[in-house]
This record gives sequence, structure tokens and C-alpha cells, in this order.
Amino acid sequence: MAFELPELEYEYDALEPHIDALTMEIHHSKHHAGYTSNLNAAIEGTSMEGLGIEELLSNHSDNNAIRNNGGGFWNHRLFWTVMCPNGGGRPEGVLASAIDEEFGSFESFQQSFATAAMTRFGSGWAWLCVKDGGKLCICSSPNQDNPLMEGGCGGQPILGLDVWEHAYYKKFGPGRANYIDSWWNVVDWPQVSAYYAAASGN
Ligand code: MN
Repeated sequence: MAFELPELEYEYDALEPHIDALTMEIHHSKHHAGYTSNLNAAIEGTSMEGLGIEELLSNHSDNNAIRNNGGGFWNHRLFWTVMCPNGGGRPEGVLASAIDEEFGSFESFQQSFATAAMTRFGSGWAWLCVKDGGKLCICSSPNQDNPLMEGGCGGQPILGLDVWEHAYYKKFGPGRANYIDSWWNVVDWPQVSAYYAAASGN
């Protein structure tokens, strides 16, 4: 069973004005579609065919085609789901408490996360991950790498921010900081909280 490009749960223009429709359309229908078809091509007819995506990332990230395209497939699949129209604000409940406990405050968390995103040179991702016992951590990774791969932080990502130029250049040009500021307005905190609950058991 080949991997399939997931449908978005909102229209390409639904994240306007924070993320523009053309960027969303190209990002999903070209970039994510490309990673998906290249991933399928990389596993077709090999012993990796039939493995789940997380098993591929955990055990086969020494294969560059899997690392780049499997990572691209998984990372974007998460990315679309942690954004929504009318998002933003701040988390509530156990996730809010975990953020306060680890980072001191939501504002301090945002600052640390934005720093991870800003200091990732070139293309990559910033992540909020859950480790054993529900402890949170922030990390970043190059290219389409992610924390599930060999060399990653080992946590389970519950929030990811794509800082490849293809994610923001049409609207923001080289202004990655403005893109990050805008992106907070579309974060789907209830969904991130659900991922936190699933990953931590809290
Ligand atoms: Mn991307």
C-alpha cells in the first residue's frame, strides 16, 4: 500500500492573511506531493515496502531517499494538522501547565521556539517534542530530518514549524522572523494538546 498525500482539512486560502493561499497550494500540491511520490518510488520493490512511516524513519534513515522523502512526507503531514483557521492564542490545560513548568511561561516558550526556528541555518524545522514522563523540549533539525530519526532528540514531535524558504518566501521574502510571528496566529493548540496527551499519557 503506497503512501498517500493527505487532504488538508481546510482550504488553501483558509489561513489567510497569515499564510497565503498560493504558498499553501504549492507547498501541499507540489512539495508534499513530491516527497510522497519519491518516498513511494524509493520503497517500491524493496524489503522496506509495507513498513509504516515511523518505522522507516526510525530504522532506515541511513538511506538518503528515505531520510529526505520519508521525512518530508511525515513532517508536512504533521505540519498541516497543527494549523487551522482561527487558530492562535495559547494552549490550555495540561499542555499549558507543562509549558509553564518547562519554560517558565508561554511567552518564554514562544521566544525559545522562535530562536530555534531562526537559528536553523538554511532549510529545516523547529520542533516541540515530548519525552518520557511528558517532559517537553525544543529542538531543530536540518533539511527534512526530524526527531524520530537517528541523530534526532528522541522525543515525539507534537508541533513543527517548516522554515524552508518554500514555506514563506512568496509572502515574506527573506523575512523568516515575520513568518514566524504570523504563524503563531494559525497554530491549532487544541490539536497540539491532543498530540501532547497521546504522547505523554497525561
Ligand atoms: Mn515544506
